[in-house]
Amino acid sequence: MLWSGWGDPALARELPEQVRALLRDFLGVRAPDVPAVGLESVRLPPVALPEPLLGALAGVVGPAYVLTWHEARVRHTRGKSTPDLLRMRAGDGSAAPDAVVLPGSHEEVAELLRVCSAERVAVIPFGGGTSVVGGLTASGSGFMGVIALDLGRLDRLLSVDPESLVASFEPGVRAPEAERLLAAHGLTLGHFPQSFEYATLGGFAAARSSGQASAGYGRFDDMVVGLTVATPTGTLDLGRAPKSAAGPDLRQLVLGSEGAFGVITSLRLRVRRAPEERRYEGWRFGTFTEGTAAMRALAQEGPLPAVLRLSDETETMIGLAKPDTIGSGGSGCLLIAGYESTRASGWGSVAARQTGAAAVLSRMGGEPLGAEPGKAWEHGRFSAPYLRDSLLGAGATVETLETAGFWANLPRLYDAVRLALAGALGSPLVMCHVSHVYETGASLYFTVVVAQEGDPVAQWERAKEAANAAIVTAGGTITHHHGVGRDHRDAYAAEVGPVGVSILQAVKARLDPAGILNPGALVPPTA
Ligand SMILES: Cc1cc2nc3c(=O)[nH]c(=O)nc-3n(C[C@H](O)[C@H](O)[C@H](O)COP(=O)(O)OP(=O)(O)OC[C@H]3O[C@@H](n4cnc5c(N)ncnc54)[C@H](O)[C@@H]3O)c2cc1C
Repeated sequence: MLWSGWGDPALARELPEQVRALLRDFLGVRAPDVPAVGLESVRLPPVALPEPLLGALAGVVGPAYVLTWHEARVRHTRGKSTPDLLRMRAGDGSAAPDAVVLPGSHEEVAELLRVCSAERVAVIPFGGGTSVVGGLTASGSGFMGVIALDLGRLDRLLSVDPESLVASFEPGVRAPEAERLLAAHGLTLGHFPQSFEYATLGGFAAARSSGQASAGYGRFDDMVVGLTVATPTGTLDLGRAPKSAAGPDLRQLVLGSEGAFGVITSLRLRVRRAPEERRYEGWRFGTFTEGTAAMRALAQEGPLPAVLRLSDETETMIGLAKPDTIGSGGSGCLLIAGYESTRASGWGSVAARQTGAAAVLSRMGGEPLGAEPGKAWEHGRFSAPYLRDSLLGAGATVETLETAGFWANLPRLYDAVRLALAGALGSPLVMCHVSHVYETGASLYFTVVVAQEGDPVAQWERAKEAANAAIVTAGGTITHHHGVGRDHRDAYAAEVGPVGVSILQAVKARLDPAGILNPGALVPPTA
């Protein structure tokens, strides 16, 4: 992973000339290309943890797994939001952990939490490092120091139960590896977020992730049937049946807990039989309103494709749904539908689903565009983040934000966020798509591009604050799948209210009395 950007540096994307022209002519981007500083030039604070304490950590995991060298610390500084990348590109490593510690078992995690609680060392659980909400930004204030607890060594498939369709994993398994391990059993998770290449199973559970095929496979939190969690006060082992009436479901307390309550050390996941066939296609709708009405009809009446996403007029015009050919979009609103099935024919087959969905989409005013847009989307489905690096270097800020709401409230939410972004940024390019649908509502995912000002981080923070306020006022949730971290903490507090906040604080105080776990993330501090 590129330390100052996204992905494999070998796959870096040159900006196509149409995009450069768009930046220049529509957004007024004038800045020359600004390269990131070299990795060796990133400024890090000195290691605050004293040698005896580093020795105590090494006593738990072995000296080879306590890293204090420059590159390891740089690579564990922050996540991958645009402000994170802008700071890293500028050489600002002020949020670096003092050390990166890699445990090799649940017992080692538990022991590390014991030592760190006793010595007041902050612990930031670190999966794939792809958080975009400030979930990994260390703050050592009030602590002896900070460690990044990298779960990369906990990377095994532990068991597969083909009868129940349950697979048990350690948390540090990256998504492509999980799919590869399951494919050997003819199985799949079906979880394909845009961060698929790098994010881990533990991170998906900790941040309630949602993938591109969520309509067919569900969100990641729908897939978790059991969890083992190490906390400073002991181990939680949750989930002995698919559903239960035994009181509140404590698994839900761990899902979305973002490393603030404990460290997930294993997960039992519902898996599916791998599809025999996948087919993606495009449809055109005249307006976003017509397109969302068609999505609602599919979500409420069926048949629901596995992948269902609709770009608004601006995103369709720019062609963001097909990042490999960006800059050459079309008119109206592009809808991508993807069908997957284990049945070659008959009920539930790709053909049957496609025919059923086509009847609904046609009735709702859609015009079929055939397989080409679907193939183009499938081909470019993980490439947009590479484009972000090129845009940042060219003097444009590009960032995303997301929310969700009930169908009846979706137009209000859509308008409110766009207005807020325009108010805060002047004339940004604001694109939106719907990519996760439910019977009762859907998510809205915005991509914003704007010419960088002198301080692009402050510029984006202004916009983000305005968008957050608009989401809260318009009755949406502050996040559908990115999570809370530090960036959404205050808006989350507003969403759950003072009693909700006091429950979070009580759970935190019970599980993590020294407050060492990801301090500042998710849970507002007690007044
Ligand atoms: C380019 C890009 C595209 C993205 N696309 C999507 C998308 O399509 N859908 C989506 O849902 N998200 C997306 N994200 C956000 C991100 O990938 C998800 O939040 C993901 O779940 C994070 O997984 P991770 O392994 O990288 O976790 P990290 O970023 O390492 O950690 C995320 C949070 O979980 C905590 N954590 C990590 N592992 C554990 C553990 N084992 N136990 C306890 N706490 C833990 C961390 O402390 C942190 O607070 C995207 C991010 C980027 C940069």
